[in-house]
Amino acid sequence: MPIRLHDSLTRQLRELRPSHPDGVFRFYNCGPTVYAAAHIGNFRTFVVNDVLRRLLELEFGPDKVKHVRNLTDVDDKTIKRARDEGRPLAEVTKQWTDKFHADCAALNCLPPHAEPRATDPRYMREQVSMIECLMEKGNAYRAADGSVYFKVSSFPGYGALSRVKERELQIGSALAGKPPAADADEKEDGSDFALWKAWKPDDGTNKWSGPRGAAEGRPGWHIECSAMSKALLGETIDLHTGGVDLLFPHHENEIAQSECCNGQPFARHWYHSEHLLVDGKKMSKSLGNLYTLDELTAKGFSPMAVRYALLAGHPRKQLNFTLDSLHAAESALASLRAHRASLAAAGAAHDAFAPALASLQDDLNTPGALGALFTIANRKEGEPDAASFDRVMFGLGLDLHQPAASQTAVPTEISALAEKRWAAKAAKDFAAADALRKELTAAGWAMLDGKDGYKLESLKK
Ligand SMILES: [Zn+2]
Repeated sequence: MPIRLHDSLTRQLRELRPSHPDGVFRFYNCGPTVYAAAHIGNFRTFVVNDVLRRLLELEFGPDKVKHVRNLTDVDDKTIKRARDEGRPLAEVTKQWTDKFHADCAALNCLPPHAEPRATDPRYMREQVSMIECLMEKGNAYRAADGSVYFKVSSFPGYGALSRVKERELQIGSALAGKPPAADADEKEDGSDFALWKAWKPDDGTNKWSGPRGAAEGRPGWHIECSAMSKALLGETIDLHTGGVDLLFPHHENEIAQSECCNGQPFARHWYHSEHLLVDGKKMSKSLGNLYTLDELTAKGFSPMAVRYALLAGHPRKQLNFTLDSLHAAESALASLRAHRASLAAAGAAHDAFAPALASLQDDLNTPGALGALFTIANRKEGEPDAASFDRVMFGLGLDLHQPAASQTAVPTEISALAEKRWAAKAAKDFAAADALRKELTAAGWAMLDGKDGYKLESLKK
């Protein structure tokens, strides 16, 4: 059964197929900006894309998929972090790249085949040469300060992906919550965007030589993906993905840059996963609900439960993430482990779990796949075979060998008490928090408070 996936450009379900004669499916996924630990909202996108990567491998073969994901290692945020910490930019971005890799490994995400960095000299050259190509073709211009901008009015196809009309672009950027840009004076038109940013004192020693005629500085963010995907995957790629927050302006700008420079269609298929909500609210620093993987494992949850919870909702719908959903995920994983153990001896090979894989192939319906998995597992008749079960586990990327939790399994009633106490403490109801701590101690558990979370330790050694 072929993989069918929603295409954000045509807004239709379309079959995924490689277009190049070599039969290799070319897949580009926008990666993280490496200046802090990624949060679970970021990881929803990466986990969903990992399921996609796995399905492509099952469909076309492991050596017939090329997956590229970039690392943004220079921008305002990375530079600010390095400046605040008084450390070199490369040292800071290396630290957070390593952390990102460790988190991805814990979440059982397959590493991409190539992971280009914006400041890598090879890709810096690719970005500069693409900007020069756009300047030569009249799609870009140099501003008075030596920055280079893309001239949006030069590309009639602009807005096709996000359905943004040119006259709405200004409103569009206002809706995206952006105040008038500091560089508004430099641009010929408000909707134009930076391809190259001239050096400013805040950038410190972080500067590179730019396109011909431009000042020293650094590339704009959008050009990264256009230049890297061309260098590693060619002018036309089979699939481009990212979180829905990247659809406009980032992906719209990528299309404009690539198609104006190359004169070829950029991506044959676009896919966007939806936002993650935490406890029904949008994630934000001020609400304190930007969980990192470390904060969740410190509460006693396993990374595999986090992965499971991130896949429990349809990737194209908003997903509400709660600590309860992690408790549920731990129990579901325990059932799957027990079921796998019961299958070990069964030899029948009739692909009993094929309906679960079929759900994944049908627009990446992860909750449908999990539902089918349990329905089949619970059925008494039939002889489900281990190979079929393992294929679905590979597709979902659920590693049942990973330890259930990073510490002693915490009973759900204890976790519930701990959550209640944490909420009471956050609400500054210290009497209730103390009473709940006593309840926990009486039940044999110590609750150790940290800045952003807590740890539960069994008092019974
Ligand atoms: Zn990108």
